[in-house]
Amino acid sequence: MSGMEEVLLGNTENTAKRIIELIQNYDFDSFLIGIRLPESVEDPERLKKKLASDIGRIVSSKLGRRVDFSKPDITIIVDYRRNALKPSLELDIRSLYVYGEYQKLERDIPQTKWMCMKCKGKGCPHCHFMGKLYPTSVEEEIGKVLLDATGGKGTKFHGAGREDRDALMLGWRPFVIEIIRPIVRKLDLEEIEEEINKSSDKVKVRNLRYSSKDEVVELKNAKYDKTYEVLVECPGYSGEDLRKIEDYFKDLEISQRTPTRVAHRRADKIRKRVVRYVTCEKVDDNHFKARIRAESGTYIKELVSGDEGRTKPSFSEIIGKPCKVIELNVLEVHKV
Ligand SMILES: [Zn+2]
Repeated sequence: MSGMEEVLLGNTENTAKRIIELIQNYDFDSFLIGIRLPESVEDPERLKKKLASDIGRIVSSKLGRRVDFSKPDITIIVDYRRNALKPSLELDIRSLYVYGEYQKLERDIPQTKWMCMKCKGKGCPHCHFMGKLYPTSVEEEIGKVLLDATGGKGTKFHGAGREDRDALMLGWRPFVIEIIRPIVRKLDLEEIEEEINKSSDKVKVRNLRYSSKDEVVELKNAKYDKTYEVLVECPGYSGEDLRKIEDYFKDLEISQRTPTRVAHRRADKIRKRVVRYVTCEKVDDNHFKARIRAESGTYIKELVSGDEGRTKPSFSEIIGKPCKVIELNVLEVHKV
């Protein structure tokens, strides 16, 4: 055994003690020790294994938690490169994932928190010193209760698609919210659900349960049909126009060039989507309501207006009169 190796292996008890102090306030079932060594060490892989196993055994027996190589709740990186006698310790806490479904009952709330890009969240005149562009979001309405309960550092919100900021979400949209660096992992999700619903009049949730990173990927790739209800302004339309729209848009593939309103943040390309059906109902001489079921990712406002010919066909094109969405609600997200 080299001198260096002897020093490192003789110091594991002390290192384990420091680790225990650092992690004992966290809620966790499993952990893993990772080791970083100075380059000068001979046969580093063997020594890493030995150190990790020695330290892991002490921590495990003192705290009664198991070592997990595939999905540990906490990974402790023990870094000997700067100081071989007193290695630095770094914690990697696995995020906590919670699945649920939400409704959004108020307009002008984005799905996720929009940080102010000018000040990067610090607060400046541009964002009225909020550090963000909107007072709240679906993410924040749900996340604040979870952050309180877990002591987490922040959230990431993964929705099964998203509605426009000014649209209501009246059906239930699936989501997974990720809590970063949670201290508490064991939650009474029924209670949390109740608390979110009590604390917010803008957002409601149901079916909360534990989720995983894998489910986030599934959710992002899933294609859900959606049913929308829109209020359309169309001066001088006739009853015949409404029947025309209903007859025309039946399992019809439409072609949508990236809308002008999102062109600044999305690539300009053509999207093909199927509109399953449309039903229309008169409101007054200049307005009608349309219920539209369409494939996930259909630009609904543009399906109605035509976006100056960028979406084809459109309500405007079919009846030869300009149509415009005044209000948009999502009635249902259809899980296939
Ligand atoms: Zn700002």
